[in-house]
Amino acid sequence: MPSTRSRTLPAPVRALCGSLCRDLARGLCALVWPVACCACGSQTEPPGLCADCAPGLRARPAPRCTICDDRLPAEAPAHRCGRCLARRPRYARAWGLFDYAGPAGDLIRAAKYGRQPAALDALSRAMIGHWPPGLDGEPPSLVIPIPLHIKRRARRGHSPPLRIAAGLCRPLGLRLGRRHLRRVRDTPEQAGLDDSARRRNVRGAFAARRVAGHDVLLVDDAMTTGATVDAAADALLRAGAHRVRVLCAARVERDAR
Ligand SMILES: [Zn+2]
Ligand SMILES: [Zn+2]
Repeated sequence: MPSTRSRTLPAPVRALCGSLCRDLARGLCALVWPVACCACGSQTEPPGLCADCAPGLRARPAPRCTICDDRLPAEAPAHRCGRCLARRPRYARAWGLFDYAGPAGDLIRAAKYGRQPAALDALSRAMIGHWPPGLDGEPPSLVIPIPLHIKRRARRGHSPPLRIAAGLCRPLGLRLGRRHLRRVRDTPEQAGLDDSARRRNVRGAFAARRVAGHDVLLVDDAMTTGATVDAAADALLRAGAHRVRVLCAARVERDAR
């Protein structure tokens, strides 16, 4: 009775067999069904964007807020947006590299909802190509991805911010901090909430440890008003971080919120 025997195997052996079977199934699928471009659906390899869609990952146009990186009207008299003038965020500076409405959003949705985490590797490579000059001169001492709550992580099977951060740290030789920030509350999705509701939703959602004195770069996949990264920055600063800056792959522009 094979099923009875397999039930008696130790848990680590069962887990290893499961992961080997999954890898084998993935390899067979890739042979039979070629990978599709996340933006237009045409065939491409490796997973991500085809040669026609890749140039669509362009830097967002200026002018932008020098604190939160939100778009400013062309005739804006200040270098900061109204929200940052009214209440300065806890992080020192944020960058949202690509417009979420373009191919960057396609890659993120393919990873989050289409079970293609490898699409995020294309995004990490593009982020390195658009690395903010402000980060070049003063590299962070620790790169920390925005953590998912353990329940959401289990549902999704992977963490997009962690995958993106790992894809940045490896080639750039930066230190990845996987266990310095935890999501202690399972907050509902932020989509559809206004700015103040978003702030209430994530208040006290994070706990940080072993970050004293570190110059932290927080990494997330997408940023809308910045309420989530601000709450995470607050937890890191309370735990003794020297400075927190934020790097997001994509920004939801003001007119798309
Ligand atoms: Zn394409
Ligand atoms: Zn701002």
